[in-house]
Amino acid sequence: MSLVQSDPKIAELIAVEQRRQESTLELIASENHVSKAVMEAAGSCLTNKYAEGYPGHRYYGGCGNYDQIENIAIDRAKELFGCQFANVQPHSGANANLAAFMAMMQPGDYYLSLVLSSGGHLSHGMKLNTSAIFYKPDHYELDPKTETIDFESVRRKAHEVKPKMILCGYSAYPRTIDFKKFREICDEVGALLFADIAHIAGLVATGAHPSPFPHAHVVSTTTHKTLRGPRGGLILTNDEALSKAINRSVFPGSQGGPLMHIVAAKAVAFGEALKPEFKTYCQQIVKNAQALAAALQKQGYRLQSGGTDNHLMLVDLRARNEAFTGADAEQAMEAAGMIANKNAIYNDPRPPKLTSGVRLGTPALTTRGLKEADMVTVADLLDRALMGKDSPETLAKIRDEVAEFCKKFPMPH
Ligand SMILES: *Cc1c(COP(=O)(O)O)cnc(C)c1O
Repeated sequence: MSLVQSDPKIAELIAVEQRRQESTLELIASENHVSKAVMEAAGSCLTNKYAEGYPGHRYYGGCGNYDQIENIAIDRAKELFGCQFANVQPHSGANANLAAFMAMMQPGDYYLSLVLSSGGHLSHGMKLNTSAIFYKPDHYELDPKTETIDFESVRRKAHEVKPKMILCGYSAYPRTIDFKKFREICDEVGALLFADIAHIAGLVATGAHPSPFPHAHVVSTTTHKTLRGPRGGLILTNDEALSKAINRSVFPGSQGGPLMHIVAAKAVAFGEALKPEFKTYCQQIVKNAQALAAALQKQGYRLQSGGTDNHLMLVDLRARNEAFTGADAEQAMEAAGMIANKNAIYNDPRPPKLTSGVRLGTPALTTRGLKEADMVTVADLLDRALMGKDSPETLAKIRDEVAEFCKKFPMPH
């Protein structure tokens, strides 16, 4: 029985959500629109099967097809990132990080990361997360002048704390990450380098951002951000001993049965990412981000670190109007059909529920086919929404304009 017949309420909500996605501009830096092929695999009969274990070593019968699918996913991931080992089973980025932590450290060990409020992820030591409950995070800083990684503070902290691991890779960092520099500091103190490339994985896979290999000992990522696959996680390494520890820490260490429909969808997405079109796509993401950044700066907004090298930017709204908050912007933008999230700016005096900035990203818009000139339109719509944030009529008018504009850019099919 079809979904519409068996559960009209949920079917209706999915249809409404599809229309929302089609008629709004998706500027959340961590989101994307997957292909029909990826969705088909994710919605397949593979959801019915238990496949605990790894290809050739399963704990249930009937896993032959699943072994082939998982091996294809693994081989494509290794090819995509140029490494020797991949575990494609983590259910999410946070799960991948937990398993990676378990492979690299013992409970109670110290590691260094960037704090959440400066652009890190909650799985990098936020106090309520396992990364802080079972391990001991300490943090390096951004340089207050450049608002980029302060490698002097990384080195100072590394020598002071003697961490087991140093974590780089972020959720809200618009600049290129110098993996080599991180590795040099790791080697000075005998620490492992862990690169979490959740946001930039697509850019890394296509050379639009330098690769963490050969510098990082372990690399984790999500598969659903710039990589444009199903929601999920992935762990990579070139180290034989670490690869064994990673396999153990994913299963049985932190997960049971893998989501094999998602593993299949990952395989499909990795296959797409190996095609030349995906490289063009990732280059366009960066071009679009730079065009959007320039257009916003022209309107008087300030960007943290002065711009972007990747797919995202942190917009300091105070430069346009001292009173603007991130919460204002998120609300006004949504009312006007543009979806983004408020985000702290470095050293933000406002609390996390308010903030002084928004984080904007171009992966989803680029998937829909927007180009540099369209970014100028987006910046204009965005600025008008903010300036008109107290006028529901203005916001409604912009929302209609956005919906009309969106018709030019169909969803992937
Ligand atoms: C998004 C993100 C994650 C977590 O991904 P989930 O799939 O939401 O668990 C981990 N690390 C970084 C840096 C991220 O940006």
